[in-house]
Amino acid sequence: MLFKVMAKSSFEELVGLLLESNEVIGPRMKTRHPDGKGVHQFLPITAFADMDLDYEKSEYSPKTYFLPFKENLSTYRFQGGDWEQEIKYRIQPRAIVGMRACDINALVKLDKVLLKGDFPSPYYLARRKNTFIIGLDHDPCENGFCASVGSDIVSHGFDLFLTDLGDRYFVAIDSDRGYRVAANVEIRDPTEADNEAYVQTRNRIAKGFKVEVSIRNLPQILDLEFQSPVWKKWGDKCLSCGSCSAVCPTCYCYGVEEKVAMDFSESAKVKRLYSCNLYDFAMVAGGHNFRPSRESRLKYRYYHQHRGFVETYDEPKCVGCNRCGDVCLAGINPPEVITDLEKEAAR
Ligand code: SF4
Ligand code: SF4
Repeated sequence: MLFKVMAKSSFEELVGLLLESNEVIGPRMKTRHPDGKGVHQFLPITAFADMDLDYEKSEYSPKTYFLPFKENLSTYRFQGGDWEQEIKYRIQPRAIVGMRACDINALVKLDKVLLKGDFPSPYYLARRKNTFIIGLDHDPCENGFCASVGSDIVSHGFDLFLTDLGDRYFVAIDSDRGYRVAANVEIRDPTEADNEAYVQTRNRIAKGFKVEVSIRNLPQILDLEFQSPVWKKWGDKCLSCGSCSAVCPTCYCYGVEEKVAMDFSESAKVKRLYSCNLYDFAMVAGGHNFRPSRESRLKYRYYHQHRGFVETYDEPKCVGCNRCGDVCLAGINPPEVITDLEKEAAR
């Protein structure tokens, strides 16, 4: 990784250059919560001023630009006894500005499943390759626990990553194209004072976390607590709405539907992201449901995040953003569920 320093005016200039030939996505404030806090989403911008880079976290994760909720995998047309298939992978070049470390770490986890697994996804690959990522450091959000799961800092998976040093940015460059794009504006090597300011900023951020979740031994605790009353306690509250998976930056489970025209002239395979908390997620042909109860579905979501993924990739799937806890109308959130499990195991 290469480190440079960029004036804030140069960053604005750089975003302007990206806007000339890319679709640019950035954090925009859409509305306010009753307490006055802004609600932000990653949306297309047409000018630097459209963005609110001081946002805490976006309500939905920017995952949707890599793994949309709904996508057409292929279309078939039938004519004169013959048929043709159309598959579209390509997207126009895109840049996403202002992604937080946890959301970039989420992409790195998705890469492991969707690019490096047994069945790489060409759709995800096309979006990943065509998207230029500029990350931006920030002070901890109110209830995030990304530091507890090692996602508060990011070492790869982006092109540029900026840390605000007041009047300038400390810039980590992690790709050739990142360097080429940054070289279009004025950048310089960091001085001793820049390095020191960067370390101080990082230390301040590291000390700012208010929520801590112990995930040490969590896979073992989950094994021990498979029949724990904790699952009933939280499962009884769950509304099976699936909102937690919809906002999660690392959830990728999906279903595929065949859509056939009434006259059989065309059909499409449509992929939709799905949630393991929805009632029919584990329902199979014949109507049997392997997870008919709310507690069993909630439990398996936690097992995938903190047990199954660890077994396969040596790390949890969860990046600690707590979006699932923020959005849950039943008040279910990972810090409280995990703490309950730990207390139960200790008991
Ligand atoms: S945990 Fe909360 S957000 Fe998730 S399905 Fe249950 S009620 Fe909905
Ligand atoms: S499980 Fe919740 S806290 Fe973890 S990454 Fe998903 S939304 Fe964020």
